[in-house]
Amino acid sequence: SYVLVTGATGFIGAHVVDNLLAKGLKVRGSTRSAAKGEEMKAARPQYASRLDFVVVEDFTQIGVFDSVMEGIDAVIHVASPFFYDTTNNEQELIIPAINGVKSILTASAKAGTVKRIVLTSSFASIVDVDSTPSPDFTYTAQHWNPLSYDTAVDPKSTSVVAYRGSKKFAELAAWDFVKTEKPCFDLVTLCPPMVFGPVVHPVHNIKQLNESNSVLWSVAAGVDPLPGSRVPAWIDARDLAEVHVQALLRPETGGKRFLPAALEPFSYGYAADIMKDTFEWAKDTVTSNYQSGQKPHAPYGVDGQTVANELGVKYRSFKETVVDFVGQVKDTLA
Ligand code: NDP
Repeated sequence: SYVLVTGATGFIGAHVVDNLLAKGLKVRGSTRSAAKGEEMKAARPQYASRLDFVVVEDFTQIGVFDSVMEGIDAVIHVASPFFYDTTNNEQELIIPAINGVKSILTASAKAGTVKRIVLTSSFASIVDVDSTPSPDFTYTAQHWNPLSYDTAVDPKSTSVVAYRGSKKFAELAAWDFVKTEKPCFDLVTLCPPMVFGPVVHPVHNIKQLNESNSVLWSVAAGVDPLPGSRVPAWIDARDLAEVHVQALLRPETGGKRFLPAALEPFSYGYAADIMKDTFEWAKDTVTSNYQSGQKPHAPYGVDGQTVANELGVKYRSFKETVVDFVGQVKDTLA
């Protein structure tokens, strides 16, 4: 029996693959790129007998997963478009996100062997960016972003708004599916905020870094002014992978929604301070055009404690994440 991981050759998906393999499980990764699948496999010779890849080119078509479900008893659905450089938000972000969910859930129900699906949703499907919550307000996994579908697909909306809609409406499609179809599996959804950390998927140059890490790297590379953080919360990709696998393995998580988030807030100014304190070279590249020495300020709370308690996950510090990521990119890609 295998765990199917979609988006297995992406930033978060590859960490999920590694976590499953380290726990002794068998993994089938789906990817759009046979070459990336080969490369991931070649980099993990010790797991050759427990790791295979299948190519699923475009999941906007329902039915594309039907032929890869043989022997699958659990699915971690990570794949979803996450980039902001779009020309048509609805076609490039929203429809693929929703249809990807419908495709994998439909194929899993048809296969009849799948017992659980863990879905990588996002804090984007929780946060209400238009509200100004008071400092004593805390977002939990019970909150939903009030964004409407019409606003998400409105050509006047930015790709950032469309992405938030893509995650919300894809997650809703999954909950609707289990409610109406009563399939053979239960569902767990995870709503992480910004995800950072070292990369274990195929990346050959800085331009190929995933969206969230490329913003963090831009700080090391000297972007000026520093980016503003859209949300103050974050999680390390390695910790998020552990959350995915615990959500898969623990019987009691079925039917639940979780908000995995480190307990300490972050800012790009704090990242800049960490880089300058740790790396000599960063003193020359990172901008000085910001208030250094400021602890990140959280305008509202984000409940990462429930996941720590219920899934037994310990979060890395922001410093560890930044140092590991920036050190890796500097040594191997820059
Ligand atoms: P990546 O861009 O590295 O990964 C995205 C993955 O989705 C890739 O593996 C890609 O496949 C796959 N994918 C994208 N579009 C399609 C499509 N149309 N058809 C098939 N596969 C597709 O980003 P992340 O690893 O950061 O993102 C993974 C997930 O985590 C997404 O669901 C994202 O929304 C979510 N997330 C990410 C956060 C972050 O800060 N990074 C925060 C919160 C949630 P391929 O490798 O074959 O190109």
